[in-house]
Amino acid sequence: MLFSEAAEYFAKIEAEASRLAMSAIVAELLGKCNQEEAKPLIYIIEGNIAPAYEGLDVGIGEKLAIRAISQVSGRVDAQVAADYKRSGDLGSTAEFFLSKRQQTSLSSSPNELLRVYATFLKISRMSGSGSQDSKISLLSELLNGATPLEAKYLVRFCLGKLRLGVGDPSIIDALSMTKHGDKKDKLILERAFNLCSDLGTVAEHYIAGKDLSHFSTQPFKPIRPALAERLPDAAQIVEKLGGKCAVEAKYDGLRMQIHLEGGKVEIYSRKLEKMTHMFPEITEAAAALKAKSAIFEGEALAYNVKEKKYYSFQETIQRKRKYGIEKMSADFPLRLFVFDIMFLDGKDLTLLPYSSRRKTLEKMTVNNPVLLPSVQIITDSPNKLEEFFQQSIAAGLEGIIAKDLTQPYVAGARKFAWIKLKKSYGAMADTIDAVIIGYYLGKGARQEFEFGGLLTAVLNDETNELESIAKIGSGFSEDEMRTFESMLDKIKMKKKPKGVVSKLTPDFWVKPKYVITVAADEITLSPMHTCGLVGETGYALRFPRMMSLRDDKGPNEATTTKEIISLFEIQRKRSA
Ligand code: AMP
Repeated sequence: MLFSEAAEYFAKIEAEASRLAMSAIVAELLGKCNQEEAKPLIYIIEGNIAPAYEGLDVGIGEKLAIRAISQVSGRVDAQVAADYKRSGDLGSTAEFFLSKRQQTSLSSSPNELLRVYATFLKISRMSGSGSQDSKISLLSELLNGATPLEAKYLVRFCLGKLRLGVGDPSIIDALSMTKHGDKKDKLILERAFNLCSDLGTVAEHYIAGKDLSHFSTQPFKPIRPALAERLPDAAQIVEKLGGKCAVEAKYDGLRMQIHLEGGKVEIYSRKLEKMTHMFPEITEAAAALKAKSAIFEGEALAYNVKEKKYYSFQETIQRKRKYGIEKMSADFPLRLFVFDIMFLDGKDLTLLPYSSRRKTLEKMTVNNPVLLPSVQIITDSPNKLEEFFQQSIAAGLEGIIAKDLTQPYVAGARKFAWIKLKKSYGAMADTIDAVIIGYYLGKGARQEFEFGGLLTAVLNDETNELESIAKIGSGFSEDEMRTFESMLDKIKMKKKPKGVVSKLTPDFWVKPKYVITVAADEITLSPMHTCGLVGETGYALRFPRMMSLRDDKGPNEATTTKEIISLFEIQRKRSA
């Protein structure tokens, strides 16, 4: 397949607002490619050159791209830069200059999709002196053989700004459509994806006709994390779990998924980013385990050795940093409360019941000073559960998570295998993790700041859209206002980002990137917001205030519309 053909489809996808229609276009595109092309094509559609957890980017910045565009179009850099200033999109600028080109280079031939992908991979591996010229020349070669439309997407892609707005669920639907014309294989595809977080590989297997029901976990392919449901009280939790259940302390720290094989260790965040180098003490403790290979999960908290107590989330989160790691690890050493194990010594454990996974993890962590099993009781008594919950709150923890002892590890899904009970905020049973979609300028006493509040949204995971839920004007310290001002200024957007649904228009839209934890008095119904919209009415937060910036979460990890509706139901039952 030629990249120019794919580019025609990208343009169609970009112009399409409906998720289903987008999936149909992706399915048509996938139907045109051969087996080898499916995997790179999926990565490209997602805007990456490898699964997102690899964190690889092409490594071409705007300056290099401007050089390449000017070389190919016979202009000077300043002309290209000036047009970019006007258009705000270097891809459109490339399209414009290539369309004005007198003739294409004689030596150029059309770009095959696989060649484009191989070239981007090659560029991403280049570093050191002289690499810049090589990068420019490789990109120029691609642009030389490109149609103007193709150039637009090549440039956007290598800058990491393809943003077609096609999420993982739409690609999963599209894959199923290639075989059945509908979503028949959605569940089986979803399961495979949840176990490896690599849609490219899933697509490769699926299109080759392999049986995905045997897909299993593998070290260094992060598993999409299991998530917890909520219920209003201890009695309902015990009833839902059918009697005897595990009740564990809910630690408020950093979730970590540790992979280990042959002495090599990787640590993945909840967003599935590699963060191994940030936590040397956890890496060492994992490497010292007797296991030949393992995947396990836990919540890490910073420990105050002198006072023999755990630090708060705010202190723990400081450990998530790029520099000064040694000092931080000495000042705020981490302990990991291990709460699940999904793989051990070559065997996938995800299908075993929790009771037996727990036994395995207890054995693995016996007498380990850094990797400790999460504190747990087994009970079928609502009173015991309530007592454990109150003790946990008194000890400064967030609450508890009750677990179904019979359930497998439910990767990537919020199911009743885990049920959380957290300390209440006002009438609400939980805080909310909302995505910042825009911000307002300062008014009155805040005029000295360019920042006067946030517009936030939650994720509708069925439509993959962000639906507005709260305008937040309080809870910010002056320092935080300054931080937000500079952080958000860098990701301002000229128009409402694709996939954002909002009736309100902030002073500035921003790229949905940052997640904040928000507390509020209650969830109300409101004509102003689009969360869970029925007719003209959506859900909103009453007296929302910012609690903290959630560096460990991205838009895909935000609270979902479904969760807001279930929180609203819990609130209604509590006040009845
Ligand atoms: P949520 O993310 O709101 O669905 O709640 C589950 C989160 O609680 C997980 O993402 C973990 O980071 C955290 N957590 C803390 N303690 C535990 C535990 N004992 N078992 C499972 N998750 C835990």
